[in-house]
Amino acid sequence: MALVTTEATILKTYEYSETSKILRLFTRDAGLCSVIAKGARRPKSRFGGLLEPFTDGVATFYAKEGRELHTLSAFELGCERQTLGGQLVRYAGAGLLTEIVLRFAPSTADERLFAQLRRGLDRLVEEQGDVERAILEETWRMIESLGFAPSVEVCSVCNEPPPADQATHFDLANGGVVCNRCRPQVKHPNLLRLAPDERAELAELLSEAAARGRGQVEGGRTQRRLLREFIAYHLAEQRPLNSFRFLEGRLA
Ligand SMILES: [Zn+2]
Repeated sequence: MALVTTEATILKTYEYSETSKILRLFTRDAGLCSVIAKGARRPKSRFGGLLEPFTDGVATFYAKEGRELHTLSAFELGCERQTLGGQLVRYAGAGLLTEIVLRFAPSTADERLFAQLRRGLDRLVEEQGDVERAILEETWRMIESLGFAPSVEVCSVCNEPPPADQATHFDLANGGVVCNRCRPQVKHPNLLRLAPDERAELAELLSEAAARGRGQVEGGRTQRRLLREFIAYHLAEQRPLNSFRFLEGRLA
């Protein structure tokens, strides 16, 4: 039995028995982990009331070899982000970022994804501008961190930039836009039409030089659909994310 101490973000919690909680953690050193916090639901628990989703801290747990559930011995609070609970759209966005980690993160350490999750959650707490833009940008960053980045500046078939004033199609299978010249070569029923301004907006959302304070997302419905279908196709094996449905309900 090894004692592990690592930075961790709480993704989800479940009540367990009368007195305990199970936490799903994303840790810097050990990737996704499940731990049981014994006695965490007692009024005078040594964990206090800190063990809530979106909370960062340093977790210490006993890792039993071959076991999926480890025993939490301490959780030193870093950043709690409890204000998210009072604002439904921000909360829904935070739920989306954490569900992506829960569903798709590797079980081994992933420094890039770990840093991106914290950055995304911080932005959802702090965002002064359009919260929907923040959610879309940070969700695309998570997907990029998992190794899936769509190509929108150039056609994914011929590698040429499509004329700026021309509608294109987004090809889910190729993971990028297809210009009108190449479109007849693509045999795939899953093409989404993108008007020029929709493609420009998608490029903006994907741009690393992300741009806080760029104003409201214009084509929210289209951008959400693209993101949802991209995740479904490339990551979720068509099993939709519950948090995405919740988010769309809040933004509709
Ligand atoms: Zn092309």
